[in-house]
Amino acid sequence: MDPHVLIFPLPLQSPIKSMLKLAELLCLAGDIAVTFLNTDQLHRRLLSCTNIHSHFSKYPQFRFETISDGLAEDNPRTADRFMELIDGMEAVTKPLFREMMVNGGCLSSSSEKPVTCIITDGPMSFVFAVTEEVGIPLIYFDTISPSALWTYFCFPKLIDACEIPITGHDLDAPVKNVPGMEGFLRRRDLPSFCRAEHLKDSDIQFYLNAILFFPRSQGLVLNTFEELDGSVISGLRSFCPNLYPIGPIHAHLKNKLASQVTPPPTASSSLWKEDWNCIEWLDVQSPKSVIYVSIGSQAVMTKDQLLEFWHGLVNSGHRFLWVIRSNSIAGENSWEGRIPNELLEATKMRGCLVTWAPQEEVLAHPSVGGFLTHNGWNSTLESVVEGVPMLCWPCFLDQQVTSRFVSEVWKLGIDMKDTCDRAVIETMIRNLMGVRRDEFVESAKQMAKLARESVSEGGSSSTNLNSLIEYIRLVRL
Ligand code: UDP
Repeated sequence: MDPHVLIFPLPLQSPIKSMLKLAELLCLAGDIAVTFLNTDQLHRRLLSCTNIHSHFSKYPQFRFETISDGLAEDNPRTADRFMELIDGMEAVTKPLFREMMVNGGCLSSSSEKPVTCIITDGPMSFVFAVTEEVGIPLIYFDTISPSALWTYFCFPKLIDACEIPITGHDLDAPVKNVPGMEGFLRRRDLPSFCRAEHLKDSDIQFYLNAILFFPRSQGLVLNTFEELDGSVISGLRSFCPNLYPIGPIHAHLKNKLASQVTPPPTASSSLWKEDWNCIEWLDVQSPKSVIYVSIGSQAVMTKDQLLEFWHGLVNSGHRFLWVIRSNSIAGENSWEGRIPNELLEATKMRGCLVTWAPQEEVLAHPSVGGFLTHNGWNSTLESVVEGVPMLCWPCFLDQQVTSRFVSEVWKLGIDMKDTCDRAVIETMIRNLMGVRRDEFVESAKQMAKLARESVSEGGSSSTNLNSLIEYIRLVRL
């Protein structure tokens, strides 16, 4: 049987983006057929915002398939309703997926090649159950930060030692039960749902269940590189021996495409229309003068937080490019009409606002000198690759752990978690862009160099990708 990989991401922006990049990397291997299974609703959005279909049409062995996510059409599918998505998928997607996979894994009547291997996201536990039933090898792709994933593996010990749930007065207590992080991890740096005020037993149970299946799968792909996450990778290897750290995956793909005889452009996989006018705005700014601000595709801020950010940015005196997503202000459809005039006037002078940016291009732009980020894992890696120092404002899940690594382990920026005050934001921006800049620039340059080396021929991630491809070729027999 020819190798045929089915890639099935969690239907959210960041998993879709990194798994499409993995799909293209596998297509470039030449002899591997790849099917990308997307949910109907997200696939429609992907098609309306990008040229992804025509981009992938150059790979005859690639195709998209779609499946229902089980939610009503008008469900907003936002992070605060994540569990509805998981429940919808369990109830509706699982039986549909099972039906697709029985009969040797032929996806539809148009498919001639049975699936020989499945790559999916950790939280979709139902995929494990189906693949075990039909006997198709399964590999997990971890799309969150490996350091946060490692803390999930430590939850049983953390619970036994009463280090979680975390209460208000012990936020700064050091965490003792996450091996390798004893020296710097505080309780406030653990995933946000470990805090007593957010904690639902079902959340902890959900993540505990999800990681139970990892060691029983055929392998775990990590979007990181050995030089960045070495100690975490060793810890994870003790649970999942077949580990493939092949990241930063976006840089890996860029590198592979650049080595083609006629390098094709990279494809956008945005679920919002990218506003390229901001690149023209960046073109006329001075080198490293702009702070780029984005909280990714899922996080929201309250109207009060929006105002604190706005004052802080304006008062910092620095130029800023700010992504304010259409659904990113809690309970509000739009910020317009709610912002004081003096802020809007100052923004006209020094700022550029967009609803969605071509982020990789923004971070690679010479005018960008800093990134005020929520530390979603993709955003963090994109910043690492471009050597852009970060001001971290983590919102949830893995972001709390990642921001601690950015500031304390990798020395790539400042952690501003658990604060949202205009004076603090102003000072932090001034520190990142000016007063303390030298502290971060050299380490950011070094890490960017290591990231690029890891995805170059002979580098650690490149070698690991070759092993993954070899494994996929092998299991077809
Ligand atoms: N992104 C983008 N334009 C924006 C904001 C974000 O293209 O204006 C992309 C960004 O490059 C990243 C992804 O959206 O790849 C967000 O993923 P991340 O893991 O950083 O955060 P999440 O959205 O999952 O919270």
